[in-house]
Amino acid sequence: MERRLFDCREWPGECTLAISGPEDEVVEAQLLHAVHAHGQQDGPELRELIRASLKPASKGARQ
Ligand SMILES: [Zn+2]
Repeated sequence: MERRLFDCREWPGECTLAISGPEDEVVEAQLLHAVHAHGQQDGPELRELIRASLKPASKGARQ
């Protein structure tokens, strides 16, 4: 399975965390992180926003 990357630097704020892994796991991990660290509201909209922000983790990681 292709690994996906979520990078907090592309979201507003000072957070520089990046999470990579299988898409569903990244979404789940980032959902928890966004709620606890970014004070965002858990829900389908946040989930979709995270999923839409994912990038292929293979690019960049090996460059
Ligand atoms: Zn963050």
